[in-house]
Amino acid sequence: MTYRGRFAPSPTGQLHFGSLVAAVGSWLCARHAGGQWLVRMEDIDPPREVAGSAAGILAALPAFGLVADAPALFQSQRMAAYDAAFEQLRAADQLFPCWCSRSELAAGGGLHRDGQCVATANPDRPPAWRLRVPDIAVDFDDALQGPQHENLRESVGDFVIRRAEGFYSYQLACVVDDAFQDITEVVRGSDLLDSTARQIWLQRCLGLSTPAYRHLPLVMGADGRKLSKSEQASPVDPADPLPALRQTLAFLSLPVLATATDVQDLLAHALATFDPAALPHCSGHSFA
Ligand code: GLU
Repeated sequence: MTYRGRFAPSPTGQLHFGSLVAAVGSWLCARHAGGQWLVRMEDIDPPREVAGSAAGILAALPAFGLVADAPALFQSQRMAAYDAAFEQLRAADQLFPCWCSRSELAAGGGLHRDGQCVATANPDRPPAWRLRVPDIAVDFDDALQGPQHENLRESVGDFVIRRAEGFYSYQLACVVDDAFQDITEVVRGSDLLDSTARQIWLQRCLGLSTPAYRHLPLVMGADGRKLSKSEQASPVDPADPLPALRQTLAFLSLPVLATATDVQDLLAHALATFDPAALPHCSGHSFA
């Protein structure tokens, strides 16, 4: 089976250091395996989208030497596939409509469990649609973070598949498209480690196969928060890519060729001795 990896940014701002780490990490794993590297633009959340950032991210990647093997897939053009997955789950009675508000759920501990709604049905308002989550443990072995075990009823409960505004959830779109793109290994930041059990469960509900997972350390600001959420989430500069690419390789504990004068030299040097198993196993560190 050909290795197929992907980088799946959300267009919520320009490419920043944290997302460059995920892009470079996934690219190196794919190139090392002699496989393909794909880019997927996760543009299915219009309220969070920042105008121009999808184009900005796609233009920045080649400046860092990261060239995909196929044109980018835009999730905004994949609604028919999400509709079909939604109907498949609904036909199997795995979804239910829900009018519960966040504050109503907070009063009962925050999680929605066992298909038990607090709010009554309101035919005047569209519902959110949630997945019925049984008392189920999902186990998987992350290639860097080790064995994972999560009981979905305890950790997340009945999670949302389609929001009341009509937008599909990241979890559903991600699972449908990882399958559609035949992704064999998902390489991404450790902030998504706790989405993985939900995604594996959804794959099982939809009869899809499960890729391997490799969660890279998360880039933290000096304040200990995820970089993109901290003050220091400055975008990387595609017009001057060498400094950020050097920092990215150093962050991933990869060799940085001091004499390199272009991104290709830096990437080729890192790839020559690359060992995916030797990437840092911690879940996050700062890059100061
Ligand atoms: N779009 C997600 C993000 O930018 C990443 C999704 C993924 O890699 O699964 O955080």
